[in-house]
Order: sequence, then structure tokens, then C-alpha cells
Amino acid sequence: MIYCVDLDGTLISNDMSVTSFFETILKKPQLIPACYRWHHEGGRARLKYNIGEIYNVDISRLKFNLELIDYLKELAENPDNSIYLVSGSTQSIVSKIASYFSFFKEGFGSSIDVNLTGKNKLALIKKYFGDSDVCYIGNARVDLKVWEGTHSGIVVSNCGSFISSAKKVTRIEKVFKGRFAHLNQEYISNKG
Ligand SMILES: [Mg+2]
Repeated sequence: MIYCVDLDGTLISNDMSVTSFFETILKKPQLIPACYRWHHEGGRARLKYNIGEIYNVDISRLKFNLELIDYLKELAENPDNSIYLVSGSTQSIVSKIASYFSFFKEGFGSSIDVNLTGKNKLALIKKYFGDSDVCYIGNARVDLKVWEGTHSGIVVSNCGSFISSAKKVTRIEKVFKGRFAHLNQEYISNKG
């Protein structure tokens, strides 16, 4: 089975686009005029992309869904499974996080002109995996559009009504609580 995992709110607690933006302008406030310009010229996608190019992800500061990570590690032990990180965050950030964990085969993120969420994410999944069965792991309303076109799903949520909405559009295999914590030191040094 192919597993496609969302990043923001699913694998990690926060929204990397927001985190990377604020951390970057706090460190380099001189970039604020450039941020206005990027947003004005190319909207959110251009802003996210340019911030992603200069932002360094610090894995030790992010909070992860540790139960989901354990589950993905278990899935990866079966050679019939392949696991991909597929996120609306910008490609450079997604690649850095995907390459950190050995269970991810690859990471797909937003480009300067494609915001990889909802319908766009489903289109990418169809393009890469064709008619193969895909289980999509997500956490938010925008993910309902992805589940509509995928074989099955896993939900990360504490919200009963959201879980019910997901069950209406695909077969939900499993539900994880939206519970996040820092990776422990041992995990960080062994790199998953
Ligand atoms: Mg999400």
C-alpha cells in the first residue's frame, strides 16, 4: 500500500508556512519589505517559496505526532508499503523533514506556482501513483478533497464531527489523536 502523509497538523503540530515566516522575520526583520513584495508579486505561494529557501528547519524544536511516527515506522517494515510526505508547505522544507525520517521515500511540497493542498494534492497523487491504492493521512477540512479520490484514509483529529465527515468520503482505517511532543534526544541522534 502507498501511504501519503500530510505535514502540518498531521505529522507536526504547527503550520510550517506560518512558523517559517515568523521565525525568519524575527531573525531578519530587514526582510519585511521583501516579504511584502513577494506577496504582492506572487501571492502566498511566492512568499512561502522564498521564505522556504532561506529558512533552516530545526527538527529538535518541532513537535511531532509520536504515535503516528511509531505507526509509520511499523508500516515501513513491510516492503510492500511505501510512505511519502505530501504537504502544502514549500518543497525545500518538506524535503528536509522527509529526508530526516528513514521511513519516507520522498517528500512532495508546494512549488512557486502550485499550492499542494486539496485538489492539487489529489492531482499530484493521481499523477505519481496512478490507479494504485493510496491511503492518505491528514487532519483538516482541506484534506476531505484528497480523501474523496483516495482508496482509504487515516485521520489525525480530536474532533468527532470532523472524523465523521472524513468517514463519509473514504474508508477510514485508523484515527490518531492530535497529540504532539518533541522528539526525544535518542530519536534525534538515531535519526528515526
Ligand atoms: Mg494539515
